[in-house]
Amino acid sequence: MRQQLKTITLAAVLLLAFDACRTIPIAASRTVAIDMPRADNMALGNPSNASASTPDNYLLVKPQYTISYSRSRGIANWVSWHLNQSWKGDARRVDAFRPDLALPSDWYAARTGDYTNTGFDRGHLCPSDDRDANASDNAATFLLTNIVPQAPRHNREVWKNLEEYERQLINDGSDVYIIAGTSGTGGNGQNGYATTLANGKLTVPATLYKIIVVVPRGSGDTFQLTPNTRIIAVNIPNVQTAADKPWRAYLTTVDALEQLTGYDFLSNIPTDLQQLIESRVDGSNS
Ligand code: MN
Ligand code: MN
Repeated sequence: MRQQLKTITLAAVLLLAFDACRTIPIAASRTVAIDMPRADNMALGNPSNASASTPDNYLLVKPQYTISYSRSRGIANWVSWHLNQSWKGDARRVDAFRPDLALPSDWYAARTGDYTNTGFDRGHLCPSDDRDANASDNAATFLLTNIVPQAPRHNREVWKNLEEYERQLINDGSDVYIIAGTSGTGGNGQNGYATTLANGKLTVPATLYKIIVVVPRGSGDTFQLTPNTRIIAVNIPNVQTAADKPWRAYLTTVDALEQLTGYDFLSNIPTDLQQLIESRVDGSNS
């Protein structure tokens, strides 16, 4: 009996010790010393392993941002870009929505008329205001592969406020790395619910999500991440009433977005650090 109790106690202690190791995988002071190139729009990784050989996860690399495009949905899966003050200037908004000729020529490419009178905005993933150092950078944001059917109040209120917050972060001394994406099918625009536009060629996404990684501004070519690196993740339904609440009401974790999409975000970061920062909600900061 006594021996048995001893064994049980020992097992419990071992279990507790194991659990402690598991929940604290790395010291809070650890700095990850891998070189992430500061100017790279995809410095944190290619979340879906997009490539030229996968039509529904088709990689489009532009100087201004990187896209995973879905041929069957007719919209981006995600867009990834870097934002700091070097991307900012006083170029005027070009407003030149147009088909993206970088898509294979036998694929359908969205045109601006696809959105006319649909009750959905031509919503930017990488915003026009994040790319205004010169006219050609700004024009690149109007390529229709960077545009998705977005409920007007979502676009002009809650999503726009988050975009403005990102630019406030760079004014306050940070660089930010942003991934904006779409998930699911069906949204509620000005004229009600729709699953597609242009006779089924463009999917109306059910949600727009975003991940923002905030790092200190620096003069070097690289930056580093620590367990304290700030991450803001949101997932916002593509409906008019989403704008009834501020973006902070839609905070979530990167882990939840990975479950939603099946992607591995921030895959260039060592796994133990991903585990730590991807489970955290930005609640205390926002
Ligand atoms: Mn917008
Ligand atoms: Mn990940």
